[in-house]
Amino acid sequence: MPVLSLTEGSFAKHLKCRECGRAYPLDPVHVCEFCFGPLEVFYDYGAMGRAVSRERIEQGPPTMWRYADLLPCNREMAVDIGTGFTPLVRARNLGRLLGLERLYIKNDCQNPTWSFKDRVVSVATSVAREFEFDTLACASTGNLANSVSAHAARAGMKARVFIPADLEQGKIIGSAVYGPTLVAVDGSYDEVNRLCSEVSDKYPWAFVNINVRPYYAEGSKTLGYEVCEQLGWRAPDHCIVPLASGSLYTKIYKGIKELAWLGLIDWRATRMSGAQAEGCSPIAEAWNRRSYLIKPQKPNTIAKSLAIGNPADGYYALKAMSESNGAAAIVTDHEIVEGIKLLAETEGIFAETAGGVVISGLRRLVEDGHVNPEEVVVAFITGAGLKTQEAVLPAIQPALHIRATLDSFEQALEARDGALPLARGA
Ligand SMILES: *Cc1c(COP(=O)(O)O)cnc(C)c1O
Ligand SMILES: [Zn+2]
Repeated sequence: MPVLSLTEGSFAKHLKCRECGRAYPLDPVHVCEFCFGPLEVFYDYGAMGRAVSRERIEQGPPTMWRYADLLPCNREMAVDIGTGFTPLVRARNLGRLLGLERLYIKNDCQNPTWSFKDRVVSVATSVAREFEFDTLACASTGNLANSVSAHAARAGMKARVFIPADLEQGKIIGSAVYGPTLVAVDGSYDEVNRLCSEVSDKYPWAFVNINVRPYYAEGSKTLGYEVCEQLGWRAPDHCIVPLASGSLYTKIYKGIKELAWLGLIDWRATRMSGAQAEGCSPIAEAWNRRSYLIKPQKPNTIAKSLAIGNPADGYYALKAMSESNGAAAIVTDHEIVEGIKLLAETEGIFAETAGGVVISGLRRLVEDGHVNPEEVVVAFITGAGLKTQEAVLPAIQPALHIRATLDSFEQALEARDGALPLARGA
């Protein structure tokens, strides 16, 4: 096993157990030996605060690596395929429809492998190289597999990628094209993940979401940083985030808090709300029971990217939800498709099923009075729709199929719309 400790060129100081607070050196480890709590990266915030400034960040590259000072790796080692600094779009049409005055969409479809997973994998790959691993691996619900495969290719590493066998075509091809060893497992994500824990114990590979998970997870903070910078160095009032393991959700919150600690923004007590699909909603279900005890579920939903029945960070997500005065929404598969269509038809953004969960989840939260109409609301759209075409196929209007004549066109149009549109000069 590589024994190199990460210290050079980063303000990361040590790993720290989230339960008992014990410190560990910056190694590829993820659980506390004493209490089995998860480890998290802890920084020298004093030194970080002296180094960072809005100006320094603004002069950085137009990618997530403009925040390198706030990440646990050496910026010289960054494996950067152009991830991050994705558009924050003012959603006036959708906002009007939902009764929200200041709604924004953070469009993370526009990453190199079309999902926010490039953020976490970019950090994990960089760290894996610092630790001198030659193989990058993961247990994935789909998007992670795409991103690990692409980053391993770029870093010249081998990739071993484990997925549930029943994934969408778009996600299988979107991994296979980069040439990884793609392993399709008969079983749910939770079974894939359990298998990968065993594989990870046996083989010296960098499993991005197992042994290097503490570093990996930090990549999601950049979504929080970007949104604040793009709002003119101002925190949103309310974030709506999709929940799978709960990691993304907790790290967006951590990112916003860090900017406030560092004095780069004012603290505004940002509220953190989450959304899940009915067929896999262990975190939202616990929230509705007002309990911190998560009951694992057997997933059955079209939102496969969020189909984690036993969420590793669920407890911490519930704590953040409670601390931030947020809420959780649960939406049906039918509502997921409606949400995808609504976002596409109002704002021209084609999201995958996780985006449908967020948009319909937001709608539910507004209806239930959890979102104040004047709040600056940011809905996080974390993956692109071309990967999950199966989900919307039954809901889209078929094309008018015609012969290549004006006559055939007009017949078809009239048959569908009941009348022809006004002609020129009519
Ligand atoms: C992985 C994923 C998430 C959420 O992941 P967490 O496990 O909660 O960090 C959200 N959206 C998409 C599209 C994803 O692929
Ligand atoms: Zn511990």
